[in-house]
Amino acid sequence: MNAIRNIVILTGAGISAESGIDTFRGGGGLWEQHRVEDVATPEAFARDPELVLRFYDMRRAAIQEKQPNPAHFALAKLDREWPGDLLIVTQNVDDLHERAGGRRVLHMHGEHLNAWCTACDERSRWTGPLIDRPACPGCGEAALRPDVVWFGEMPYRMEEIYAAMRDAHLFVSIGTSGAVYPAAGFVRDARSLRARTLELNLERSHGSGWFDETRLGPASELVPAWVEEMLAGNAN
Ligand code: NAD
Repeated sequence: MNAIRNIVILTGAGISAESGIDTFRGGGGLWEQHRVEDVATPEAFARDPELVLRFYDMRRAAIQEKQPNPAHFALAKLDREWPGDLLIVTQNVDDLHERAGGRRVLHMHGEHLNAWCTACDERSRWTGPLIDRPACPGCGEAALRPDVVWFGEMPYRMEEIYAAMRDAHLFVSIGTSGAVYPAAGFVRDARSLRARTLELNLERSHGSGWFDETRLGPASELVPAWVEEMLAGNAN
């Protein structure tokens, strides 16, 4: 009998790595080409908006060329078929969970394919560049920025995340290094709420010791195998 009903799944850059999207900290990762302070902080945007907009324009164009991999498809299948509550909290700003068919997805660090107007606070779906300072479709001001949570900014929808965590019987972390808070602290929150905790990652994350179980390997193999276990009722 499967005692697990409600699941919270945290995903990070590692789940999209096999789709060809760079992780942040791995070899050849994004930050090896750019210092984080130069592109992913509000101060950087104030200091050199062209550099920041060009960086995100490149990323926005690149992700639209990429495809979901078996790990995204497996989570979408779990989302469709799991009878209990389920929430996929992603730190990723790509849309590969959705393109694989995932529905119960929450982007705590924003989305590449949204633009945020700093004049009227509206968010618009945005697939093209921002470097040429297009007008906001809502108010007409040329005040759009990437709708991505930068270092030093508050992640989105934390109350919803903690509400789901309070009811979760299982917390699963997939492809995240556990270096960026508050997401890195979710495993400890889950433990204190008596949820079971499972890590699926290529290598042990910073918070690995907090998990009840760690499985090491590529997400494209580990995630489909785990999803089949869950759907077969073999979870412990
Ligand atoms: P990270 O780069 O710090 O860590 C990536 C983790 O994934 C590492 O632990 C690595 O061992 C693991 N990994 C690499 N390849 C893997 C594979 N094939 N299968 C399983 N695991 C694999 O990324 P993070 O922890 O997500 O860092 C957080 C920040 O990175 C977030 O702010 C997020 O917004 C941002 N980010 C997002 C994207 C994206 O949207 N695709 C890409 C890069 C970074």
